[in-house]
Amino acid sequence: MTHRQWIAQCIELALDNAARGQAPFAALVVRDGTVIGQGVNDVKATEDLAGHAEVRALQDAARHSGSRRLAGCVLYTSCEPCPMCLGAIYWSGLDEVYYGLSVAEQAEFDDLPERQYAEFRRPARERRVQMAQATPDGMDPRRPFLAD
Ligand SMILES: [Zn+2]
Repeated sequence: MTHRQWIAQCIELALDNAARGQAPFAALVVRDGTVIGQGVNDVKATEDLAGHAEVRALQDAARHSGSRRLAGCVLYTSCEPCPMCLGAIYWSGLDEVYYGLSVAEQAEFDDLPERQYAEFRRPARERRVQMAQATPDGMDPRRPFLAD
């Protein structure tokens, strides 16, 4: 199958998901021409904010392959991944991603991923969510890594 044919399959799965009242996203993880993971957005059904199609497809692929390491795999997704899914893609170690609708094109329907990418390009001190290190006195936060 070509990249475009895999994306067509993702778009069909996204349409099916939308018909079930869920958000219109779907993704496939493919290794050597075979689907080893499939996912659709189930955020509405589960109230799990991590229930994006790409995360679900990566989880499914990890279950079926017996490893969370997905080097050599390709992710196909109906829409360009959001920053959360991009992080999961990097954690998985897979090599290539192809998408149907870009984040910029998706903004016509939902501009949150586009706004998140813009937010993450800002210096940390200028972001909406403030983040700072808070190390307890007398406690080394490296301890969990040094245990054993
Ligand atoms: Zn996502």
